[in-house]
Amino acid sequence: MSKTVEEINRKIESGGVRVVTADRMAEVVAELGPERAADEVDVVTTGTFGAMCSSGAFLNFGHADPPMRMTRVWLNDVEAYAGVAAVDAYLGATQASRTLGIGYGGAHVIEDLLRGRRVVLRAVSCGSDCYPRKALLSEVALADLNQALLCNPRNAYQRYNAAANSGPRPLHTYMGKLMPGCANVTFSGAGELSPLANDPGLETIGVGTRILLGGGTGFVTGAGTQHAPERGFATLMVQGDLKGMSPEFLRAASIPGYGATLYVGIGVPIPVLHAGIARAAAVRDRDIETDIVDYGVPQRERPVLGRCSYEQLKSGAVRLRGREVPSSPLSSFLLAGRIARELKRRIEAGVFRLSAPAAELPRRGAAAPLAMRRPARPLPRPGEGPRPRHGREPVAWDGGRCLSCGSCLNICPAGVFRRDASWRVAASPGRCRSCGRCDRVCPVGAIHAGPLGVSVGGKHGR
Ligand code: SF4
Ligand code: SF4
Repeated sequence: MSKTVEEINRKIESGGVRVVTADRMAEVVAELGPERAADEVDVVTTGTFGAMCSSGAFLNFGHADPPMRMTRVWLNDVEAYAGVAAVDAYLGATQASRTLGIGYGGAHVIEDLLRGRRVVLRAVSCGSDCYPRKALLSEVALADLNQALLCNPRNAYQRYNAAANSGPRPLHTYMGKLMPGCANVTFSGAGELSPLANDPGLETIGVGTRILLGGGTGFVTGAGTQHAPERGFATLMVQGDLKGMSPEFLRAASIPGYGATLYVGIGVPIPVLHAGIARAAAVRDRDIETDIVDYGVPQRERPVLGRCSYEQLKSGAVRLRGREVPSSPLSSFLLAGRIARELKRRIEAGVFRLSAPAAELPRRGAAAPLAMRRPARPLPRPGEGPRPRHGREPVAWDGGRCLSCGSCLNICPAGVFRRDASWRVAASPGRCRSCGRCDRVCPVGAIHAGPLGVSVGGKHGR
């Protein structure tokens, strides 16, 4: 028997939904078999709580008076990327503080905001006629922001390589401290609670899947960057309203010797639509294997020292090079379990509905390495490129550059620029009277300085 997401949502509304956490599903399937388990269970809830460096937040500050186009922005001295719009910035979790270094970063600013603390906002600009302000210093809280959208490009790895270090000195890595001579193994991920490990075929998780993100409601917005499902390393891109989240499930951290990162709690409901999904959601720690990779070799393709299951990793020791080596996680299994149970509670209480994906995530593909090539040409230096018009020179017009944006249409008293019924712009430079009014009007440089009546580019309009 198969079910639909809509049928499960009706059960959620009526209070008759049956939910189990992912760590219990294996027992249910072992007892009932996948067919009956799919009849008996409507939703499996998953959870993960690990360091997810690829996280951050889009923030909208609102406009100052006089207004300003912020070209560089710092929050508690952590720079946010301001090339988004006038008063928007993207604060990356791993960006380090200018003054405090790697001990305090974007993740800490996000947590400070979430905890209701004010943070110091500093911005600079070169100024413009529409945005005359050039500097700003203020103090803002989360409640002051128009929008604060946690937007994480790569989260919830299906599984992750475990790490060891064959080298002669301790290493401080994003996988924690790795002792020399392969004296310890660290690992990440939630094993049998991992959302993507419970839906490895990406049958139910897709674009638009409603999830628990940082304790609030979020959504899967696509495959995460470096999504590599063919190798068992699928990832998710997620977003949610930071204002609805809780510091219990979103925590800043600084990994010594590496830097800031954000621990992100994610819970994903798996609708048990048929027996195949029940079977996949019965995955156990012992079924999920991963490589133990040597971080002591400083190269992209690190040697594989061994292979083991999450059951072995979670036992506290793994066999490596013929001996028992202690293993420890960077992720919190305690909080991953709490997230899966909290999601179960909300579904059973009728306050969390499932959403059918609007689009599937790619089921094929692998992450390619960086293309490392010597640039064929040097980058242009400031001032190089087409000469802008200044003052009273005759124009030339480059129809190949023109976007037909229309900015020049109401400027010219001689009717040089005109449009047709479909808003295609054309120009007749021969009519130009060199009045200079179209100076600096074209956003793509299609209106040039040039000899009267000559059209660079050879065509008028497209
Ligand atoms: S010439 Fe420039 S300003 Fe005029 S329509 Fe084309 S792109 Fe726009
Ligand atoms: S210089 Fe004056 S007349 Fe010539 S195209 Fe520009 S606006 Fe028109």
